[in-house]
Amino acid sequence: LIKPVDKITALLELYPKGMAGFKRFLELMEQDPEIKDRPNALKVSHLNGDIEFDNVGFGYDNHRSVLDNINLSVKAGETVAFVGPSGAGKTTICSLIPRFYDVNTGAISIDGLNIQDIAMESLRAQIGIVQQDVFLFTGTIRENIAYGKKDAPEEEIQDAARKAHLESFIAALPEGYDTQIGERGLKLSGGQKQRLAIARMFLKNPPILILDEATSALDTETEKIIQHSLMELAENRTTLIIAHRLATIRDADRVIVVTEDGIAEDGSYNDLVEQDGIFARLHNIQFQEV
Ligand code: ATP
Repeated sequence: LIKPVDKITALLELYPKGMAGFKRFLELMEQDPEIKDRPNALKVSHLNGDIEFDNVGFGYDNHRSVLDNINLSVKAGETVAFVGPSGAGKTTICSLIPRFYDVNTGAISIDGLNIQDIAMESLRAQIGIVQQDVFLFTGTIRENIAYGKKDAPEEEIQDAARKAHLESFIAALPEGYDTQIGERGLKLSGGQKQRLAIARMFLKNPPILILDEATSALDTETEKIIQHSLMELAENRTTLIIAHRLATIRDADRVIVVTEDGIAEDGSYNDLVEQDGIFARLHNIQFQEV
């Protein structure tokens, strides 16, 4: 039997960074009586991934609202990157979709269904999250890849590793997929951990993917491989990227600029550069074209 906490963590690559923190999230899930299924909540077995925010307002506490009147529509299969100053609310917007928190006002729907009417476990089974700090547990590489799909057949695990470009690394280890990693096992590099996280998501294959981009830089070669795998992972699913570096969002269909006042700009990368607004300024600073 999987304990409830395991079920929750299986959704995640590692939930929140920084002040929220993984522990905090678990505490929240255990203690927050607000976030639970409504009577007769609908179990969904497949979602297409059309996401709609309708006048969404949210604050972590009563004293301060973080999001006000957010209206946003993401089409199934689209890749959308959120950019903007630190603390503007990019992560918060994405945290509302798997219902880590419930909105205070307005509604979020997926495929036209209010997410509060969907049975939470089935909602979360449709969403994958790749966090910047990859969570590894003590166990084999195989078990770590199969984290979100514990009964996955061996071929699927190997296929996911191949798609995440982990195959040659694993093949070079004397014990291959049986190699122990985590606290007491082999230490993986930042790039290898990220690839493992990507393999988990290929295996889970959710229609909705949330990528919290790593802030710490990897070497250029590793970065390129990971970027490439992420773009492959994003194909054929709705992908929301919490972006910290502009170079990685060139391939996004849309860029949404979030500021403390809400959504300030929304358009394609090139259109926003031409608009000469906030995004154009960010772009010019990062690429020193001032
Ligand atoms: P960054 O680029 O630094 O990741 P962000 O745009 O993703 O920032 P959020 O993490 O969504 O911003 O934070 C929005 C606001 O909500 C900030 O003022 C932040 O301090 C606050 N906040 C975030 N998480 C929590 C939390 N768990 N409890 C209380 N306040 C929070």
